[in-house]
Amino acid sequence: MAPHSRPCDITVVGAGVVGVATAWAAVRRGLSVELVDRAEGPGLGASYANGAQLSYAYTDAMAGPSLWKQIPGLLAGSDPAFRLRLNGHPAIWRWGLSLLANANGSRLRRNTLHTLALARDSRQAMQALLERHPIDFQHHVAGKLHLYFNDAALRAGAKMVELKRAHGVRQVLLDAEAASDVEPALAQVEGIRGAVYSPDEAVGDPWRFSAGLLDTMRGRYPLQARFGFSLESIRRSAGEWLLSSREGEVIQARKLIVCAGIDSAALLRPLGIRLPLMAIKGHSLTVPCGPRAPATSITDTARKLVFCRLGDRLRIAGLADINDWDPAVDPARFGQMLDLARQSLPDAGDYTRILHRWAGLRPATPDSVPIIANAREGLTCNVGHGMLGWTLAMGSAERAVALALGEAGTTPWPGRG
Ligand SMILES: Cc1cc2nc3c(=O)[nH]c(=O)nc-3n(C[C@H](O)[C@H](O)[C@H](O)COP(=O)(O)OP(=O)(O)OC[C@H]3O[C@@H](n4cnc5c(N)ncnc54)[C@H](O)[C@@H]3O)c2cc1C
Repeated sequence: MAPHSRPCDITVVGAGVVGVATAWAAVRRGLSVELVDRAEGPGLGASYANGAQLSYAYTDAMAGPSLWKQIPGLLAGSDPAFRLRLNGHPAIWRWGLSLLANANGSRLRRNTLHTLALARDSRQAMQALLERHPIDFQHHVAGKLHLYFNDAALRAGAKMVELKRAHGVRQVLLDAEAASDVEPALAQVEGIRGAVYSPDEAVGDPWRFSAGLLDTMRGRYPLQARFGFSLESIRRSAGEWLLSSREGEVIQARKLIVCAGIDSAALLRPLGIRLPLMAIKGHSLTVPCGPRAPATSITDTARKLVFCRLGDRLRIAGLADINDWDPAVDPARFGQMLDLARQSLPDAGDYTRILHRWAGLRPATPDSVPIIANAREGLTCNVGHGMLGWTLAMGSAERAVALALGEAGTTPWPGRG
């Protein structure tokens, strides 16, 4: 690797899956990159132990017509999968109204297809990376079954299948028997009314990916990674960005790409940049596989849980606590998720031996579409990947770097609708 003098061509803030992928999209073009993060290593924020799903086909936006029916349950706190904190961050009001503005059929279609295109780019970018550098992160195409337990939900699911099939996605609607033929472990699940099968969906461990890709870049590409740099303020001076850490260090940046997940909004607000991001906290648990662990990834749409196999372990993720900004595991919520998992797939894992408990904050936009846009001269945002940041990281990275280099047209700034 040829030595390079600072500042690098591109400085990336945040070394989650999105930031590491963004660094890759830049170094693969021959650019020098400085990647900074306050943590001790890559992938330790929201990316660390997420659901591990590369959901290239399931890009359905969070807000759609069915959201209206969920509101009473949300307000009453009667649906164990969701919590809404109205007394948390005041941004909830503006964000919530914007979410409701997206809760109709045409926005659902628009937002889902927008994300679908990004997912398609992501799959291609991932394939291209792995052809060049085989990274071990337990990546495999497992296929996915979305299970439905009532007819109304199944009909809504079927509509989305129709929409995405028209855009080249392989998805089929199955009855309970056909779903069990695909995944015999479903014999343990009661009350299935139907399922959507997406044979091309993949899984992979996001932390292993982040660490593996960083190692790959460090050895072969002009990348400097600086961990333990807690960015406090960003200012413009003489045509460059100056990044100051809490400890008083300063980094010069020619072109800055911000990938700081949920913290991006607070980081950029002093520059007058408003990012409509809301924390949606989720939890995950990892257990040894049980006697009937599914080989196919499973989404229980009633309990809002995802299950997938990573080697001899089962990763389960779920819960959506809107406007909860504390990334620590909440023992009560974790216990609820464990109960839901036992109800859903009782023999899939050894629930008596929990190997890992985790919580993370999904950085969510009201339309479920990430914000990949130039915000100021030399400052690009790559944030707001919500429920699908692992899935969308590679394609988002390519778009962000193209934008930073002026290769792509402008994308709408948030407030887009
Ligand atoms: C329970 C759960 C399950 C999920 N399951 C899936 C799934 O199955 N599939 C999927 O596609 N997505 C899933 N997601 C969503 C996905 O994990 C996120 O969208 C994604 O991790 C966001 O990545 P990111 O790189 O933007 O953020 P992060 O991973 O949070 O990275 C941001 C980085 O910025 C750094 N940073 C922040 N502020 C500063 C600062 N001031 N100075 C320096 N560094 C800073 C942080 O330390 C962090 O490393 C899930 C999320 C959760 C919580």
